[in-house]
Amino acid sequence: MAFPIKDTSTIRADDGPVTVKGWVQDIRNLGGISFLIVRDRHGTVQVTAPKKKVDAEVFARLASLPRESAVSISGEVKPSDQTELGLELIPQALEVLSEAATPLPLGVVDKVNVEFDTRLNNRPMDLRRPEVRTVFELKSLLRHLLDEAMAVEGFTEIHTPKIVASGAEGGATLFEVGYFGRSSYLAQSPQLYKQMVMSSGLDRVYEIAPAFRAEKSNTVRHVSEFLSFDGEMAWIDSQRDIMDVMERVMQHTIAGIKDKGARQLELLEKEVELPKAPYPVLTYSQCLDMLNSEGMELAEGEDLGTEGERLIGELMSDKGNDMYWIMEYPAEEKPFYIMEKEGTPYSHSFDLDYRGQEISSGGQREHRYDVLLKRMEDKGLDPVSFNDYLEAFRYGMPPHGGWGIGVERLLVKMLDLGNIREAILFPRDMHRLAP
Ligand code: ATP
Ligand code: MG
Repeated sequence: MAFPIKDTSTIRADDGPVTVKGWVQDIRNLGGISFLIVRDRHGTVQVTAPKKKVDAEVFARLASLPRESAVSISGEVKPSDQTELGLELIPQALEVLSEAATPLPLGVVDKVNVEFDTRLNNRPMDLRRPEVRTVFELKSLLRHLLDEAMAVEGFTEIHTPKIVASGAEGGATLFEVGYFGRSSYLAQSPQLYKQMVMSSGLDRVYEIAPAFRAEKSNTVRHVSEFLSFDGEMAWIDSQRDIMDVMERVMQHTIAGIKDKGARQLELLEKEVELPKAPYPVLTYSQCLDMLNSEGMELAEGEDLGTEGERLIGELMSDKGNDMYWIMEYPAEEKPFYIMEKEGTPYSHSFDLDYRGQEISSGGQREHRYDVLLKRMEDKGLDPVSFNDYLEAFRYGMPPHGGWGIGVERLLVKMLDLGNIREAILFPRDMHRLAP
């Protein structure tokens, strides 16, 4: 007899003979009858094995299977009003594809609280839990939606090297790697390369790739390896051109998650709200005033800090604004490649914040060779080690700017996951290099 393979999302009560493949989530043996719950990526199906109706060998093997074993079970589908799917499978043949060892390192359906570290130490088993795994289906969807949105905006996807000779975002977070007897680093961002490309005619580019930062702090929003969504565009009039693109891309992406990710969101019991657009704009100075009138004591030029960002987020959310811009940060705080706002201590820069947390930094870049050189020197950087980058500015570099968005931070905020590690399959941080 032929047994067509079905999964729990397509199986129907009138299917007749089928094969189901999955993990044995649970077994109940009641003497004359055994019930198994078999789980695949979509859900679960009940296998009902009455001793009298099932082959003796199959029955004995079923009843003694360790939980989480991988099996293939063939049999007849029968309607049942006792199960969620309205059907049950009466087994005729069983193939144990891989028997699970006992005890399990981690329960899959048990409701006990386990330490996050224990979960991460046993990540493949942890991922068997639908609510853990589903985040990665949404991350994959998010990734596709970004491609979609960038195509609409006329951007070309590029790939820049991840082994680099110099850093872009300051020396403190560089990972050094040996390179044929020379020293090199893991790229903190594609910053210098995407800017070099701006001189080429590929004048709207984006990249979605890992970025590496030796973050020595242990927080819920920093890891050593994250997925960075970078964009850069040339011939801009001001940074507003960049912000307009980003705003459309964010709205498209979040709307897409709500729409195409509806099944996953339901499983996670999450509701995603489309932020109110256009996103309001605050300046850094306005933020300082807001925070200081809330009782903080921040000096001019000082970083708003985690607490400041959080508080601004609260004030903005009270007015129904989940996503907002913070612009014109002090030039001194910003990397050398950011353009200064002439005659002021500020810069043509912005952050995009999502409910109290920075998810992106960007701005207009300094495209004038002489001014760029001066800014580097002021920051104590040796232009010689940036020679290849600087060359691209010597023969007609258009005005340009761009952004870097932490993809996991975006997802974590969208889904309210709490810890960035929930959105990374195998996270890397100061304390974790395996698995
Ligand atoms: P923060 O101040 O929050 O540490 P940053 O200003 O140092 O971030 P940028 O250099 O502006 O980070 O990087 C652009 C974006 O990349 C950030 O807005 C964030 O979304 C993401 N990002 C930066 N560092 C990390 C990290 N260590 N882990 C995860 N995401 C990061
Ligand atoms: Mg930043």
